[in-house]
Amino acid sequence: MTETIKDIKKNWDLIIIGGGITGAGIFRETVRMDLNVLLVEQQDFAWGTSSRSSKLVHGGLRYLKEGKIFLTRDSIKERERLLKEAPGLVESLGFWVPVYKDRGPGKWTLEAGLSIYDVIAKKRQHKFYDVQEFVKLVPHIDQKGLTGAFHFFDAQVDDARLVLRLITEAIKSGGHALNYTLLETIDRNDQGQVVGVTIKDVETNETKVLSTSAVINATGCWAEKLHPSPKKNLHLRPLRGGHMIFPARVLPVDQAVSFIHPSDNRAVFMFPWEGAVIVGTTDLDHKEDLSIEPVITEEEVSYLTEGLHAVFPSLDISPKDCLSTIAGVRPVLSEGKLDPSQESREHVVWVDKGLVTITGGKLTTFRTLAFDALKAAKPFLPPVELPDAVEPGFTQSSMIPKQDLGLSPETWRNLLGRYGEHANDLVKEAALQDLKNIPGTRTLWAELPYAAKNENVRHLADLLLRRVRIGLLTPNGGREYLGRVRKLVAPVLPWDRKRWKKEISDYLDQWEYAHSIPGVKPEYNGKVKTLYNNVSSGIKKLFNLKS
Ligand SMILES: Cc1cc2nc3c(=O)[nH]c(=O)nc-3n(C[C@H](O)[C@H](O)[C@H](O)COP(=O)(O)OP(=O)(O)OC[C@H]3O[C@@H](n4cnc5c(N)ncnc54)[C@H](O)[C@@H]3O)c2cc1C
Repeated sequence: MTETIKDIKKNWDLIIIGGGITGAGIFRETVRMDLNVLLVEQQDFAWGTSSRSSKLVHGGLRYLKEGKIFLTRDSIKERERLLKEAPGLVESLGFWVPVYKDRGPGKWTLEAGLSIYDVIAKKRQHKFYDVQEFVKLVPHIDQKGLTGAFHFFDAQVDDARLVLRLITEAIKSGGHALNYTLLETIDRNDQGQVVGVTIKDVETNETKVLSTSAVINATGCWAEKLHPSPKKNLHLRPLRGGHMIFPARVLPVDQAVSFIHPSDNRAVFMFPWEGAVIVGTTDLDHKEDLSIEPVITEEEVSYLTEGLHAVFPSLDISPKDCLSTIAGVRPVLSEGKLDPSQESREHVVWVDKGLVTITGGKLTTFRTLAFDALKAAKPFLPPVELPDAVEPGFTQSSMIPKQDLGLSPETWRNLLGRYGEHANDLVKEAALQDLKNIPGTRTLWAELPYAAKNENVRHLADLLLRRVRIGLLTPNGGREYLGRVRKLVAPVLPWDRKRWKKEISDYLDQWEYAHSIPGVKPEYNGKVKTLYNNVSSGIKKLFNLKS
């Protein structure tokens, strides 16, 4: 049974604001500390940057080049931990880096960087391939000036599922979490000490005043709205990155390929993900209002397509081939001087009388951020020990039932990764015909009713864009499957005919606006919908689209 603002009590040891990876990671650790914890998210869980990343769990070769050795070290350690603890959710990903005579870093620079990578991971896993060997494995690659390619390993994840797995495990262990719940104010006493918060359900407008002496602000790009930076010259600089998602038949790669974009020498990449292929990313200042869902622009689509033409000239890929697009905004701390791609991805922690703000950082290092935030919050919490960092970050579950349901070991692995110990319940509750993949994806039909029933789904978009990702992985946002989706999930969602009509129409509008392909999509009546705090409550703002 999903909790609502009505159900929750008044007193809390800790309240976490923000249901992205940073808030979810902290939430997961706090329930190990036996604290009374509430997490609130103004939209859906993972609605912000944490469902719109490049989905890499990586050390970041580029950070080494910039001398950020500790960031690379922490990231690689976290990558190794996550690969061990969350199989099926975080999976190893092979990377190719072609080496050219006249562009990009040379062979010896890459050899040095990859050797450091291997030393940190304590395993040698890079190798150089000469042109003949490489071209056999990646046949469409541009061969002009090619001298060979390095191969190494990083990892990938479904970012939204990572957030959901942490949140659902924390709820199972006694935590409380509300989506569509905005933190309106942080209340302080005469000494300025935090004493509580006021929260509001953005769809029912119900508010509640809660008591607590500790609040963690994990609101990513929004963090300075709740607590301005204490450093005059250091502020959040929202940087947008866009991705295009292609069907695998159009862009046949079975491992990641990283390459240098011809127009600005930035590294861009493509890699297989959930049965499709992601191409990204761009990196530019995001000037739009943060309450409006970020979208990729036509210029960014042209930039990524130009990159694809340069690296795979024979494939003649067009934006028309694209399934969907996605854009996110990086919470990057900046002194405002650098080129976007050179800005540091490190995080900061600011403490102010019971309010701990943590922002910046990466998806990969979410557990490091969680420990840093909790260390800073400790003086405001009841006397408790911090969790032991050597304990696994997830509930460990590797049971694969014996009965033959026709599911492959790979499918079981995916289910265990996404749903942890609940994978078995999902399968037990499913009708046999729903234990089949939705075409073109690695998602089972049975995941839809399970997520709709158990994972705080309020809207169809929550289900199709974040609990499962078929809105991004199937043509036109999965329009052709909506009939079967409705049939499957209607029994577990309390929606009448009218509500279903509205949910479908809102979802399709939202997909058209934020996930279709600019320049390819039909005219969208000249208006942009904001996803303010109330996507489907009817209180939608219309902004005039400025080019
Ligand atoms: C294009 C792109 C690619 C990236 N690729 C990678 C990658 O491959 N690997 C990697 O490790 N990292 C990557 N990152 C970085 C990573 O995605 C972010 O660092 C991370 O997702 C930030 O998580 P967060 O929880 O801090 O912020 P968010 O995910 O944005 O979460 C903050 C949440 O706070 C909520 N909120 C805000 N104000 C309030 C309020 N008043 N009340 C309640 N809730 C509120 C928001 O709605 C939001 O959901 C990428 C980022 C981008 C943009």
